[in-house]
Amino acid sequence: MLSEKFIGMLNEQIRFEMESAHYYMAMAAYCDSENLTGFAHFLKVQAQEENFHAKKFYDFVNDVDGRVVMGKLNEPKNDYESLLEVFETALQHEKKVTKRIYDLMDVAQEEKAYPAMTILNWFIDEQVEEENSMDDIIIRIKRIGDNSHGLYMLDNELGQRVFTPPADEE
Ligand code: MG
Repeated sequence: MLSEKFIGMLNEQIRFEMESAHYYMAMAAYCDSENLTGFAHFLKVQAQEENFHAKKFYDFVNDVDGRVVMGKLNEPKNDYESLLEVFETALQHEKKVTKRIYDLMDVAQEEKAYPAMTILNWFIDEQVEEENSMDDIIIRIKRIGDNSHGLYMLDNELGQRVFTPPADEE
């Protein structure tokens, strides 16, 4: 049985993942307002991933007989100066998520909560990918500079992103 403190932290993580989805939708809305529909699509798929993360934690809490409680979401940042600012904000956000996952792992280890370690290991790997993908886009946006053809190409590429939950889920 997991401690009440740990269940509380997992519930906070469910809230945070849902808030992440909310933040990414606000970023998508900015991109749509700039007619960057491929970037907007990419961020909407990212929001779907965050909802999936929230559900993964939700199912886990439920499976270990914890009580899932849905928390309040904060208002996201809606105004951005540039596409670069959007993705720099996204990367900073993902770094916060990673820190939270590590904190959860610290408590899982303290409490010898072995089943929690399995799911948290999955999230640790996932965060490496999340940070890497945001970082990669930042580098490419910087490289493109004010080359509108380059921007068009990247917008097109990101517009192809498809949400694919792992096969063993659902
Ligand atoms: Mg997430």
